Amino acid sequence: MKNPHIKTALPGPKAQEMLARDKAVISPSYPRDYPFVMSHGKGAEVWDVDGNRFLDFMSGIAVCSTGHAHPKVIGAIREASEKFLHISSDYWHDYQVRLGETMNRLAPMGEPVLSFMCQSGTEAVEGALKLARYVTGRPRVLAFLGAFHGRTMGSLSCTASKYTQQKGFFPTMPGVTHVPYPNPYRPLFAGDDQGQAVLNYIENILFASNVPANEVAAILIEPVQGEGGYITPPKGFLEGLRALCDKHGIFLIFDEVQSGVGRTGKMFAAEHTGVKPDIMTLAKGLGSGMPIGMVVAKKPIMEKWARGAHGNTYGGNPVCCAAALATLELVEAEYAANAASVGAYFTERLKDLATRFDVIGDVRGPGLMIGMELVEDKASKKPATKLCDALLTRAFHNGLLLLSCGISTVRFIPPLMISKADVDEAMTIIEASLEEVLAERN
Ligand code: PMP
Repeated sequence: MKNPHIKTALPGPKAQEMLARDKAVISPSYPRDYPFVMSHGKGAEVWDVDGNRFLDFMSGIAVCSTGHAHPKVIGAIREASEKFLHISSDYWHDYQVRLGETMNRLAPMGEPVLSFMCQSGTEAVEGALKLARYVTGRPRVLAFLGAFHGRTMGSLSCTASKYTQQKGFFPTMPGVTHVPYPNPYRPLFAGDDQGQAVLNYIENILFASNVPANEVAAILIEPVQGEGGYITPPKGFLEGLRALCDKHGIFLIFDEVQSGVGRTGKMFAAEHTGVKPDIMTLAKGLGSGMPIGMVVAKKPIMEKWARGAHGNTYGGNPVCCAAALATLELVEAEYAANAASVGAYFTERLKDLATRFDVIGDVRGPGLMIGMELVEDKASKKPATKLCDALLTRAFHNGLLLLSCGISTVRFIPPLMISKADVDEAMTIIEASLEEVLAERN
């Protein structure tokens, strides 16, 4: 298609120069899909260094929750940074206390919580794992196949969405056992209730064999599985997991690094079921792009952490906390609701597209955490990985930034402030791009 906002062949000349310079000095390990070289952004629009304008439906991997350069977030960052950039988490300041108070009010535990601040998702997960082991004195953790929890050693040990993430880094942390994540589109077990089947597997097979429940400190789960394919577990599963944890004195950790802070149309994905985790991890959308993560735990759990048991230099950075406070205010007031309503509209439009393309196997929300699973055909459900990669590249050339997840799922994670008109523009590009890659394939 011809998009008037795309003025050069991509990558343009300035982008090409940057790519060459980058190659000489930057690690090649980043899993980059297409050559987007950013110049600046505003809301859901971003420009590259050659003046081409794109619609950003990947938000820096679900980070730019309030859109690019939101004046309230920038104002909060400016105000804090003019006071002080750093004091370290060993001392006290208003921004960190206020963020703790805000989290205490918002957290889905339904009871008082304490917060630990860090800089990223993986660190939040490390903190949660350490907290669970420390408080229970138990060594083991259950995580899920398809999970993504980060790439530092503890969280990496729980990550299982792609083999490239762990390959070359063994031995990982001992004590982690992965179990299947119930996937309504791709049932693994016989019977209608995939959630109950997984719960039975944990209780009757794992706990009854070589993973005794009384050695398990925590069950770590994404309430909506992210990198593994944007999968919402079937009704009743998280409730069942909660009951299993209560029965055996295991902590339930919700990794809401990707699903939290309005992304699913509620402040936290936990709120869709009402299931209350013992510990929750946050990062990504929390700081609108400023590097901040949090471990949030029920008060009686985190207050057991002795002085010096866990800490860091940059946690609770005032500028990051100020960005998080502004973000939470915007999401609470407006953007979670916007994600719910615009997300529902977007999902409906994609479902309509699915009726016209046999290669769209499944479209699923919630909110603005939307996955569109591509398959060879609806009947076989065979994952169409190459098609998914080709679609991402083509959408880029047509002016839309997207990411994939799972084996062959396109994910749509625009800023939470987008309008229906933005969705309409994206849909035009998605449909045209799909038609183009399919025509080339035939
Ligand atoms: N947990 C989840 C659910 C994530 O999606 C991610 C990042 N994709 C992480 C943890 C790790 O976050 P970070 O990249 O900030 O370390």
